[in-house]
Amino acid sequence: MESPVASGTMSSVMRRIALISDIHGNLAALQAVLEDITSQAVDDLYCLGDVVGYGPEPAICMARVMAAVASGHTIMGNHDNAVIHEPIGFNRSARQAALWTRQEVRAGPLRLFGGKRRRWNWLRSLPSTLTVDDALLVHASPRHHLEEYILEEHTHGISFTGEDPNLLLEENFALVEKICFIGHTHRPGVVTGDDYAWHSLADCDLEWAVDERKVIVNVGSVGQPRDGDPRACYAIYDGQRVVWRRVEYDAERTRQLIYANPHLDNRLGDRLLEGR
Ligand code: ZN
Repeated sequence: MESPVASGTMSSVMRRIALISDIHGNLAALQAVLEDITSQAVDDLYCLGDVVGYGPEPAICMARVMAAVASGHTIMGNHDNAVIHEPIGFNRSARQAALWTRQEVRAGPLRLFGGKRRRWNWLRSLPSTLTVDDALLVHASPRHHLEEYILEEHTHGISFTGEDPNLLLEENFALVEKICFIGHTHRPGVVTGDDYAWHSLADCDLEWAVDERKVIVNVGSVGQPRDGDPRACYAIYDGQRVVWRRVEYDAERTRQLIYANPHLDNRLGDRLLEGR
């Protein structure tokens, strides 16, 4: 698998970078997105985590990400972390999926060589944050890299966890210098730092022009979108604009693989068709 990043691109002041997140073992979605990235002439590619979890093809997704994304350009998600350590705080189907994924990708002591060991070591070594040019990259939130949800409801003053939603946004924006890219919720959009307002992809027509305001940008999910649009989602950033891309893929193929796997809840397949 060749890297979808254009080689030999002249470095310019503004680099075009693609940001993918939350692949969740959905190979068909990942392939479609990597093909789309190839058509977008980007200079670099970053992955915001959750390569595995929920989905039926974790090992091959890890291999594809390792091949497509340069070393050091992938950060860890909570599902990646749960496979290495413990799926704490996961619901039943997510926990069951994490335990099965560990069986699939874990390299035991007899597997000192080969792809499995390489992939396992790669997963274990992922950092929880990166700074790329003027952008901060985390899986979940600036203050809790792996676990915290930043949701549209927080911008309406609502929180279902009992946390003060304003304080949550305030503390997270305090850690952002200009722009922060996240995944984790599988819901793409932008939170502006001056008024704590939510801007969905429908509001901004898949494009956000960066101005003097701080922003937290959710790039959406490749392998399990939850914003009502079942197409795979990722974002491209060139220093001035964020553009989201929605990519059709064969979700039915992934659903069938989930149905055929007794360790994965069928609902994880059904939701792919709805984007919920
Ligand atoms: Zn995720």
